[in-house]
Amino acid sequence: MPGRTLPTFTLAEVESHNSTKSCFVTLGNNVYDVTDFIDSHPGGGDLILEYAGKDIKAILEDETSHAHSEAAYEVLEESHVGFLASADAKAEPTGTEKTNGAANGSNGKFVHPRTGMSCEEDLTKDTDIVSDYKTHKFLDLSRPLFPQVWYGGFSKEFYLDQVHRPRHYKGGASAPLFGNFLEPLTKTAWWVVPLIWLPLVSYGLYLASEGFKNPLEEVPYFAFGLFMWTLIEYLMHRFLFHLDYYLPDNRVGITLHFTLHGIHHYLPMDKYRLVMPPALFMILAAPFWRLAHTIFFWNWHIATTVYCGGVFGYVCYDLTHYFLHHQNLPWWWKQLKKYHLEHHFLDYENGFGVTSPFWDKVFGTELKSKPKMI
Ligand SMILES: [Zn+2]
Ligand SMILES: [Zn+2]
Ligand SMILES: [Zn+2]
Repeated sequence: MPGRTLPTFTLAEVESHNSTKSCFVTLGNNVYDVTDFIDSHPGGGDLILEYAGKDIKAILEDETSHAHSEAAYEVLEESHVGFLASADAKAEPTGTEKTNGAANGSNGKFVHPRTGMSCEEDLTKDTDIVSDYKTHKFLDLSRPLFPQVWYGGFSKEFYLDQVHRPRHYKGGASAPLFGNFLEPLTKTAWWVVPLIWLPLVSYGLYLASEGFKNPLEEVPYFAFGLFMWTLIEYLMHRFLFHLDYYLPDNRVGITLHFTLHGIHHYLPMDKYRLVMPPALFMILAAPFWRLAHTIFFWNWHIATTVYCGGVFGYVCYDLTHYFLHHQNLPWWWKQLKKYHLEHHFLDYENGFGVTSPFWDKVFGTELKSKPKMI
């Protein structure tokens, strides 16, 4: 089956690829990038451009205007770049796509071919554990998950496709990872994060303040660290947690991916596998201590203040992430919640900013919602 891990495009996005620079066409739910084909089309490039951003089913089948050979379909197959995320109820998921047992698609809603979900609410519908395992042959949620990831012998491609299809375990309970005495170590409650890191941030700021005449002079450096955190948050989520393309295709790579972020996409509503375990944070944060002290090499106190700002940013991020998943918040967070949950059920290759979509806008990975039904 062609490219089950291809991205989803909205109709508006497809329609915007309508020039010789980038030319998309659709055939049913499939999206094709035929830009390279414009020059070599036997009937002339203009004919293709006439259909740029549009569906080509009619013209492909219309033999009086011009018959299309098998070769035409082969060219299309090679240029398949994704699926159309249509709000149109008659859009069918491609071929044999199965849902996760959570979303059933029978209500006529469009099921995203890559996540098996239609909407935010699908994230909290219990997965039918037996049929999920039967259908996907991925992980059996009734047995400890870590050994299955390690010994499962999954190819990277299969693993990545499956792990980004959200499941919901028994009303949001924590599925077993080891199934033995190690189990409690796999769980981190949200309040552990501020409890451990905020006192250390305060202590760091106190030590650093000795290098300033007035502690208030720390404020701009602290703010700078906080701002740098937002960039780190974006880069880590996009390039480390979703290191999907460069991930080594072996059990070590797959198990690391699962530990860092895969499990959160696999079971996004698990309250105890959401914030970062302190041990993991220490490992990830250590290089940044060095980085801060390399950049501000001339002043230990400045470097430490900046670092504390960064750690404080991390604490805000992890709490925000937790409450976006588990609380209905007012105002600014309402949008953030919608945005982040779309990263889960709609498109995990966009929308990496959790505390703000700012860097997604800067780097062009902003989530675009599907067009509204008219
Ligand atoms: Zn990923
Ligand atoms: Zn999340
Ligand atoms: Zn993610």
